[in-house]
Order: sequence, then structure tokens, then C-alpha cells
Amino acid sequence: MFDMHVHTNASDGLDSPKELVILAKETGLTGVAITDHDTVSGISEAIEMAEKTNFRIIPGVEISSSWDEMEIHILGYFIDYKCDALLDQLKFFQLKRDERIRKIVNKAIKLQMSLSFEEVKEMAGTGSIGRPHIAQLLMKKKYVNTVEEGFKQYLTRGKPLYVPRYKVTPIEAVKIIKAAKGVPVLAHPGLYPKKWLLIVRELITAGLKGIEVYYPNHSAVIIEQLLELCKQEQLVPTGGSDYHGEGIKINKLGSYTIAIETIKQMEENINGFSCRTH
Ligand code: AMP
Ligand code: ZN
Ligand code: FE
Ligand code: FE
Repeated sequence: MFDMHVHTNASDGLDSPKELVILAKETGLTGVAITDHDTVSGISEAIEMAEKTNFRIIPGVEISSSWDEMEIHILGYFIDYKCDALLDQLKFFQLKRDERIRKIVNKAIKLQMSLSFEEVKEMAGTGSIGRPHIAQLLMKKKYVNTVEEGFKQYLTRGKPLYVPRYKVTPIEAVKIIKAAKGVPVLAHPGLYPKKWLLIVRELITAGLKGIEVYYPNHSAVIIEQLLELCKQEQLVPTGGSDYHGEGIKINKLGSYTIAIETIKQMEENINGFSCRTH
């Protein structure tokens, strides 16, 4: 079985790519898709480890996008993670992430909180920096008791430290993934306000090939509706745990998986674009 939604410390997960492969194998999985936020920097290490241990890594990414005030995540599978255009685009996203975190830190300083950009950077290590690292720092400094509380009290829209992200649309995210030979999939639609359904056709026209149906926060009713939509629109139903590490959210590695047949269905959708690599 394959868990198609997993984060490492290349973004805001806790495990290194190597550790993740070991853990996933212990869990009994056949393979995982590494889908870090706006980065592919953990993939080479995971593939190297997987080759040594007869495990399968599907190179992926999870791109954050916004549409009509909604945050929408687009997953990309089987991407050419060495593709120059993709790497340039992701580097740009990282710059924008840094910028956003600096703005958040400035807001915190104005509120007399003791935070610095360097401290947040240290939390993120070499990984893709994000609000979870601010939340972890808030917890370390005892401003809040949990990461969840950090989000609820400070970091979500309308709260004192909220800063909007750089906005790429979900359509653009789908195109970025396609241009890197990837298979674009809509992540966790159960987490979005219902109006996401208004853009699904446009996403399909842009190249969307699947929907993340099996996901921790999806009720049986939502799963049923999404499966129906997949059938109607000939989209591949996928699934994954959105694991970030033990103790970060409740998501357990391997708790949501898909079978090899679905992987094969997705592979049929790998597009033939060529991509310049070094
Ligand atoms: P960012 O990319 O910096 O906007 O941060 C997004 C990350 O924050 C994603 O990994 C989410 O899983 C995580 N996140 C969003 N809301 C919450 C929350 N309420 N509690 C914990 N993590 C959250
Ligand atoms: Zn995350
Ligand atoms: Fe997500
Ligand atoms: Fe995720």
C-alpha cells in the first residue's frame, strides 16, 4: 500500500527523508509520495535510501495556492524533481515564504513578543519555512501550549500575527506541476468551503487528474461525494495521511493509503512534456 501524502523536514515535517523511509518500511508500506510544501529538496535523499531498502518513493510536491480567499493545496505526483523551471518556481516560493515570515515576526515584535527571524529559521532548519515553525517557537517560548493553539490564537486569518501568503492560483499550481511532467491532484477538498466545487471544471481543463479522496478529516459522506465526482469527471481517487511526524497533528503515517492499481492509473497520466535539467 502507498501513503500518497507525507511531509519531511524538508518542509514542516519532523523526520528527515531517510528516517521517513525507515519508518514507512517498518509501518509495512510499499511506498510513499513525498509531498513537502513548495519544495522538492527532500526527494533525492529519500530515493537514495529507498533504493537501498527496496522501498518505493514517488517524487511529489504540495503547492499552496489561493482562490477567492480560500487556501487550496495542489499535489503533484511523479514530478521531474530536477526540472529547471520547477526548481526556479519553487525557489521563488521560498523567497516569498521568507518574506512572509519576516512580516509575521515584525508583527510579533510590535506586540512586544520576543521572536526573531533567525530563531524561526533555526526551527525550520534547511526546510521550507512556514507558519508551523512560528507556532513551534511560540510553544517553545510558552506563549501557547500547543502548535494548534499557536494557529488558533495567532496565525490564522483575522488573528494578530496573520499575514496573507503570496498568491498563486490553483490553476497556476496545476500548470506548474504539469510543466514538470507531474500528475496534478487536488489535496483534501473536505477542508475547503464548499465553493471549491465552482472551480473544479476549470482545474480539470488546466490538467487536474485526481482528487485526494481518502484523507483523515474526510467523513464517510464526503468520501462518497468525492468518489461520485471522480467517476463523473474521470479523475483518479487518491489518498494519504498528511503525516508530519509523531505528535504533530494526529495524522499517523500509513493511516490512509491507496493500492498499486491506483498508482498505475496515475502513471498513465504522466505527461510527455520535456523539461530542461542540469
Ligand atoms: P504555511 O504554509 O506557512 O501557510 O503553513 C501551512 C501549514 O500549517 C500546513 O502544513 C498545515 O498543515 C499547517 N496548519 C494549518 N492550520 C493549522 C492548525 N490549525 N494547526 C496546526 N497546523 C496547521
Ligand atoms: Zn505541512
Ligand atoms: Fe495541505
Ligand atoms: Fe500536507
